[in-house]
Amino acid sequence: MHTLQPKNHRTKIVATVGPASDAHQTLAGLINAGVDVFRLNLSHGGLDDHLDRLARVQGARNSATRPVAILADLPGPKIRAGSFGETGVVVVPGQELVLTPGSEPSDSTQINVEYAGLLTDVAVGDRVALGDGDITLGITEVGDTQVRAVVRTGGRLRGKPGVHLPGDRLQLATPTDEDLVLAVEMARAGVDFLAVSFVRRAADLQKVRAALNAAGLACPALVAKIETRGAVDDLASIIEEADAVMVARGDLGIDCPLEDVPHLQKRIIRACVAAGVPVITATQMLESMVRAPAPTRAEVSDVANAVFDGTDAVMLSGETAIGDHPVLVIETMGRIVQSAEQEAQYQQWGSRLGRVQRRNDSEGELLVTQSLTKAAWQAAIDVNARAIVCCTVTGRTARAMARFRPLATLVAATPDTSVARRLALVWGAIPITVGTYRSTDELVWQSVERVVQAGLAAPSDHVLVLAGDPLSGYGSTDVMRVVRVR
Ligand code: PEP
Repeated sequence: MHTLQPKNHRTKIVATVGPASDAHQTLAGLINAGVDVFRLNLSHGGLDDHLDRLARVQGARNSATRPVAILADLPGPKIRAGSFGETGVVVVPGQELVLTPGSEPSDSTQINVEYAGLLTDVAVGDRVALGDGDITLGITEVGDTQVRAVVRTGGRLRGKPGVHLPGDRLQLATPTDEDLVLAVEMARAGVDFLAVSFVRRAADLQKVRAALNAAGLACPALVAKIETRGAVDDLASIIEEADAVMVARGDLGIDCPLEDVPHLQKRIIRACVAAGVPVITATQMLESMVRAPAPTRAEVSDVANAVFDGTDAVMLSGETAIGDHPVLVIETMGRIVQSAEQEAQYQQWGSRLGRVQRRNDSEGELLVTQSLTKAAWQAAIDVNARAIVCCTVTGRTARAMARFRPLATLVAATPDTSVARRLALVWGAIPITVGTYRSTDELVWQSVERVVQAGLAAPSDHVLVLAGDPLSGYGSTDVMRVVRVR
């Protein structure tokens, strides 16, 4: 059974694991510093590397005193360049170079592009962006075996950066066949979340569910990465199908004008919070800390603004995967979100929320859950409750409760350790595992006892408990109890 180790902030932290952080000691340090979800970026390395890294992360999280989840991020139809090595090379504006289809290592004069359609899908005058989009090339000549280009904005190219070709001419489906193979392997190996890259419509997520179903595996929670204009346009149906969402600002800022990203981020977060679907804000949050020991003012503002927008989680990529001080990055992130939360005015959130009727709610269960969580949010304010305990089999009640961003501590009591781990991504949720029970009364008392043992409530505190009564016919949350701790 997990014990609790509440942190002093409620926004969750996702950290990407890489060569800078996959030693057992560093992983343990990252958990201690506040990581809730470890992300494996499957764009780098082969299956054996992923399984090896996954085993290390599982080893570290199994010794943690609170649930820590693992997210495997599928590469998607991203075109990558052949490796520039860890130190990389610098390209400067005006420099000429050639692009060739292939996966051999690249250098400062020849970039190999892992896309067989390169020679047919680009035209003279096209703009090609590399990496996070800050290095751009202009195509000057398309030949039979290679493409010539001139560097427009320069910089350092490291590892295997993404190559962004004009999107409207590319015929790449998502998920790719490679994604589906990786999805099956990662699900078999026990990851909690699978992030699907370049999702454009709900059917893209359904394909992943179908592949896992065909392999006879339970599907991990699916994270829809919103990184194209098409996904933003089809947001409502993607959110309906997804278990979580990521604002993948790296690619979103290449597919859409960069200056649109801040308001698209707000729109995506608002829609996810309203639907009770956890949302991660990702990419370049503390980028300068890949090398520097402190973030820039602009980065601190960016993280704080994601908290004000209502994000469930903030994500680190290169900062923890290849950076110089991964643990310091998490400590810094923790301090920024803690400070922002004090100004986030969460009291007003509940009154702004409407009801969300999802298409698959034919039995009205979700409406009952939504109306009871609203009642609990209001009651918690009225009686100045110390904690709201959501007894939840699937995690849904805790997610619905988190929509209100309640001031009272939000505890999710569940008998299922995999549900507890998925709740590690949900704003404010402190997952605890409880045993099986014979009656609603027993469940309520057992949960309150665990909350008190964990130091989350003390004698004379009010605790609100939401639970389900098997006799009610709803099969989900339908009881609210106000408990005064004795
Ligand atoms: C992003 O584009 O912001 C992102 C998180 O995806 P990836 O790391 O695969 O580029």
